[in-house]
Amino acid sequence: MDGGVTGSLKPFNIALDGPAGAGKSTVARMVAGALGFIYIDTGAMYRAVTWKTLRRGVSPEQADEVTAIAGAMDIELLPGAQGQRVRVDGEDVTEAIRMPEINRNVSAVSSIAAVREILVGLQKELAAGKGVVMDGRDIGTRVLPNAEVKVFLTASVEERARRRFGELSNPDITLAQLAEEIAVRDRMDSEREASPLARADDAVLIDSTGMSLQEVVDAVLDLCKAKRGGEE
Ligand code: C5P
Repeated sequence: MDGGVTGSLKPFNIALDGPAGAGKSTVARMVAGALGFIYIDTGAMYRAVTWKTLRRGVSPEQADEVTAIAGAMDIELLPGAQGQRVRVDGEDVTEAIRMPEINRNVSAVSSIAAVREILVGLQKELAAGKGVVMDGRDIGTRVLPNAEVKVFLTASVEERARRRFGELSNPDITLAQLAEEIAVRDRMDSEREASPLARADDAVLIDSTGMSLQEVVDAVLDLCKAKRGGEE
C-alpha cells in the first residue's frame, strides 16, 4: 500500500474511537499493517476481564471483586496469522471473549472506574514507545489525549448491525435483536460516568455509512499523510 506515509517522521500514535460495530478493529488492523505500526484492541482487554469475572462466578455488579480480578490477571495481546490472539494467564481466550454472554456483560464491567484505571494504565504503557494504532471508546479523550492522529469512526446502528450480522457464521440471533443489542451497548457506553464513549474535540469524525472498508482506511491514511506534511 502506501509505504511512504511514515517516511522520515518519527513514529506517532493513532487513536481510533467509536461505537460497537463501526469497523474500528478492522480499520485499525489495516492502518497498522500499512504503516508498520502495532495494533492494540483495548475492547479485547475489557472483554478479557469480563471473561475472567464470569469464569470465576463473580457478577459484573460486584465492583470490588471485579477490580481485584482485573488487578491480578495477566492479559497478553499477541499478533497472529488470523489477527490478534488474546491470552489470559496463559490461556487463549480469543474466541471465548467474542461470545454473546461477554457482549451482554462487558459494558457493566467497563463502567467500573477502578477497572478502567488499571486497564488505562496498561494501555498508556503499551503506547509509550509510539507507533501504535489503538482502538476503543476513550482513547482520544483519556488514554492518549496527545495522540497525533485522532479519529472517531461511526455508522448508523442499522448499518453496524448488518455488518456484524454478516460476520456471524451461525447466527443464533436475528438482525433486529443484534441492532437492539448494539443500541443498548451504545447507550451504556455513552452514558456511564467513567470516561464514556465520546468524540474528542480534536478527533476527525468519519461516518462510514455507505463507505467501503478501503475508503475508510484510505481516509485515515490521508490524515496520517497530512500529519506528516504538517511536520516537514
Ligand atoms: O470494541 P469492543 O466492542 O470489543 O469493546 C467491548 C466493550 O468494551 C465496549 O462495549 C465497552 O463497554 C468497553 N470498552 C471501553 N473502553 C474502551 C474499549 C472498550 O469501555 N477503550
